Amino acid sequence: MYVLNAILDELWRSILWKKKGKRLIPYIRKDRTFRKELRDKYLVGWNYSKHYVDSAIKQAYSTLNSWRKRYLKGKAGKRKPILKRKFVRIKETLYSYHNGIIKISVKPFKESISIDLKEAWFWDRIAELELGELILKHDMLIITVRKEAKLEVKNPVAWDINLLTMDGFDGKNDCTISLKKIYTIHRTYELKRQTIQKLPDKTKKKLMKKYSSREKNKMKDVLHKIAKKLSNRTNVFEDLKSFKEKVARTKSRRMNRQNSKHDYITLQKIVEYKLAWNGYVTIYVNPKGTSKTCSKCGYYNKDLKGAGTFKCLRCGLTIDRQKNASRNIWNAFLRMWGNGFTPKGAQAQ
Ligand SMILES: [Zn+2]
Repeated sequence: MYVLNAILDELWRSILWKKKGKRLIPYIRKDRTFRKELRDKYLVGWNYSKHYVDSAIKQAYSTLNSWRKRYLKGKAGKRKPILKRKFVRIKETLYSYHNGIIKISVKPFKESISIDLKEAWFWDRIAELELGELILKHDMLIITVRKEAKLEVKNPVAWDINLLTMDGFDGKNDCTISLKKIYTIHRTYELKRQTIQKLPDKTKKKLMKKYSSREKNKMKDVLHKIAKKLSNRTNVFEDLKSFKEKVARTKSRRMNRQNSKHDYITLQKIVEYKLAWNGYVTIYVNPKGTSKTCSKCGYYNKDLKGAGTFKCLRCGLTIDRQKNASRNIWNAFLRMWGNGFTPKGAQAQ
């Protein structure tokens, strides 16, 4: 990391500032001679793999380039940018992996580090897997693994997610999972935060920090518990990126809805990850009209208002609003995948 900072300093000093109109435009030196000089300079007395110097040069350039872009847009000042991503990817040729042991070359042919993953607590979870990238941070080594998985659609269920419940439909049956805990956690901490408003700033700040980390941890715990219930089958969700309109329409409890949206997206991500690990695909459908369309005949009921029951003006269907929505999500899934759950395109070919 020391080298990275030194190289960044060097590049920063080499910048040519040219006047253009009223502004000074920075030009970063990139010519081959300059680069070679820089590299050679840092390789003098460098016993470690050359790769680390090359990688540092690359990162210093990318830091400066992105600073230059921001500067030209007027979003950054004339000050040297600070390094944000302080890590190095270890080049593939610098390590080997056999029988659970990673061997990383530090100084070519002289010094290496061996890490026996068989000793690690997670060994049984990764024993069968391929090693992925190794990433070196200043105080830790991040080991990634690759798992090749064929994801299949199995026992699918479509979910309509609301503030307090998730309502599922699998083509035959309805089911519900309570999300009340998510709501309660936010509400509890909202109240806690309100009660400390009048405390002195320093105390308040300290407590706020404590509350927010506790809230986060509790939420994580709850989300993982819910995700666990969903992890042994294909789940069909609404793509919540366009969930915003839904949020904006209800002014009351807006904060809670905003929070919840964030939690639901996190939940979907956790589920998606768990499913992929178990070999199942997660499906997202367009949320447009899922709550206002009749799931039986397709009639679009514009004036739903806040009613808890959906009544179709065309075919007369009367159904719980959330159950109607989950059926619509189910229907969208069928349109995407066909009745035999095969991808649409596959049949046509
Ligand atoms: Zn209808």
